[in-house]
Amino acid sequence: MLLLGAISCNQTNQKSNHIDENKHTTSAKVIEVMTEQKQRELTPEEVLTDLLQGNERFVSDRQINRNLPKQISSTTKKQYPKAVVLACIDSRVPVEYIFDQGIGDIFVVRVAGNIEDKALLGSMEYGLGIAGSKLLMVLGHENCGAVKSAIKKLDVGSDNVSVLLNQAEPAILEIDGERDDKNKEYFDAVVKNNVYQTIEDIRNRSSIINNLEDKGEIKIVGAFYSLTDGKVTIIRNDTHEHDDD
Ligand SMILES: [Zn+2]
Repeated sequence: MLLLGAISCNQTNQKSNHIDENKHTTSAKVIEVMTEQKQRELTPEEVLTDLLQGNERFVSDRQINRNLPKQISSTTKKQYPKAVVLACIDSRVPVEYIFDQGIGDIFVVRVAGNIEDKALLGSMEYGLGIAGSKLLMVLGHENCGAVKSAIKKLDVGSDNVSVLLNQAEPAILEIDGERDDKNKEYFDAVVKNNVYQTIEDIRNRSSIINNLEDKGEIKIVGAFYSLTDGKVTIIRNDTHEHDDD
């Protein structure tokens, strides 16, 4: 027991609950969840800050110690998530983990290459327009297999995969240089441009999201996740530019 008590806060061994509980100086587990009032009072900017602070905790292994069963029972009937994150399906980008979020905190829309289509737009409209979330983040990531496949024009003989990969084609064509996924600078630039493209597509194809952004009720940001160090970097954080400006 003395040995366990002496384990430092930086201890990364999470196999034992006992050790995990000793990881933080405050041992009480967090049970509170998002409420209607909390959601209403948060500004889009505060939600962004909250997610980035969560990512800092994730990177430095200082995650909030949550009582997940209690959070499950407090969110069974209703949910008031603060953000919608459109992310890739990549197994190395576990969205709640990387932002250190609990049950009922965020909507996560996932699709290979974090592109948009009607069903995905509908999901985002639900989260922002009906369920009241304040932030839409489009999250691309380093070494994205879907973007890599699109760069290489991979043909696996499936119309479904082709439709998916073709979504990234406009973003690829805008980046100068040889289509070379081994060139990290080029690859990262395509991933980031694919995020920008997705944001513009969302703005152009969803009047609901567009109007919410115009009224300042939500914010849309683009972000890039590093598989190397787990850090999320904001790569686009601007206001909507009207087509008729
Ligand atoms: Zn990916």
